[in-house]
Amino acid sequence: IPNDEDTPKEENIRCLPLLDHFGFECLPHQLVNRSIQQGFTFNILCVGETGIGKSTLIDTLFNTNFKEQKSSHFYSHVGLKIHTYELQETNVQLKLTVVKTVGYGDQINKEASYKPIVDYIDAQFEAYLQEELKIKRSYFNYHDSRIHVCLYFISPTGHSLKSLDLLTMKKIDSKVNIVPLIAKADTISKNDLQKFKAKIMNELAENSIQIYQCPVDDETIAQMNSSMNEHFPLAVVGSMEEVKVGKRMVRGRQYPWGVLQVENESHCDFVKLRDMLLCTNMEDLKEQTHTRHYEQYRCYRLRKMGFTDVGPDNQPISFQEIYEAKRQEFHEQCQREEEQLKQRFMQRIKEKEATFKEAEKELQDKFEHLKRVQQEETLKLEEERRKLDEEIIEFYKMRAASESLQTQTCSNVKKD
Ligand code: GDP
Repeated sequence: IPNDEDTPKEENIRCLPLLDHFGFECLPHQLVNRSIQQGFTFNILCVGETGIGKSTLIDTLFNTNFKEQKSSHFYSHVGLKIHTYELQETNVQLKLTVVKTVGYGDQINKEASYKPIVDYIDAQFEAYLQEELKIKRSYFNYHDSRIHVCLYFISPTGHSLKSLDLLTMKKIDSKVNIVPLIAKADTISKNDLQKFKAKIMNELAENSIQIYQCPVDDETIAQMNSSMNEHFPLAVVGSMEEVKVGKRMVRGRQYPWGVLQVENESHCDFVKLRDMLLCTNMEDLKEQTHTRHYEQYRCYRLRKMGFTDVGPDNQPISFQEIYEAKRQEFHEQCQREEEQLKQRFMQRIKEKEATFKEAEKELQDKFEHLKRVQQEETLKLEEERRKLDEEIIEFYKMRAASESLQTQTCSNVKKD
């Protein structure tokens, strides 16, 4: 026990700041380091008419110039252009996949326009499900291509949504996080824009279309996200042009009457979109994709494969039991099919046998007929031959008689 003299008095204790983290306080740092090492993936689907500004907005968002050929308006069907880019900002690596519609809204038959989009989203879910169901899964190397967000570009008509917009959004709203955008918002006046935004939100609600809602349960971003939700659909402008405003160079669009600054929040909602997508809600978008949209697809597919959590008696059912039941069902189905196949085969053989017998009988009849004809011919010929023989004999007889008559006549002449 230290004596009183050795114990330092309270006021003399020196407080040193911690130079490093200790204990389980370090856990978040481990996660951050691991994530930075692995890199991030983010997959965006851009749906909108040709020339509505999809490529320009993606370039403006990521400050890149993914040089691409301009799409034509004359495709016979809607297609998708898929590009994956490896981007880096400081030590953070981002594998960005951008999927853009090609020829969307250019066809007369609008019904078929949404199908390639729905099929693509489902195909990515299916690929992930197949990876999950493998015995040897490789999540570490697996490129997760599920779409995390769909930027839906609405034409700045100032009137209302087109039927194609409503149709497509309705088809994909349970499969992907939809963020509706009013494209080329610089072509619409401020007053009209507010009315247009309200009109769009009304139409979406009337048609029960679910769009992405920024989460407000995390108090650090709740305020920002709830104000973001009020700004939907975001009115965006894209441009990679640098324009001089005062002494600064800014990204914007120069008009005879002034400059629209892309990153000026009083000019358009571009910054809001960028913050929402990249700074505050990228992780939430990915989480929603996995826990809500993919989960729904997974349930649907597993049910279709015959899996269930409870049996007909509402009791939990094990995977083994389902597997055995499915195996038995499959076995019985195989036997049924085999039996049907055998029966069909026997039936075919009987039918073939009957046709062969018919053909054989026909041949036999033909043969008999020919034989009869030939016998009659032979008889006829024999009769003719017999007649000929008789005629020959008659002829020889006549010739002999005439010869003897001739010799008799000659001898009579000589005598005379
Ligand atoms: P995409 O076919 O949808 O990818 O369209 P692009 O990005 O290729 O853009 C088509 C044209 O629209 C280009 O000439 C762009 O300069 C122009 N554009 C793109 N974004 C905007 C915008 O926000 N406002 C205006 N006024 N024009 C834009």
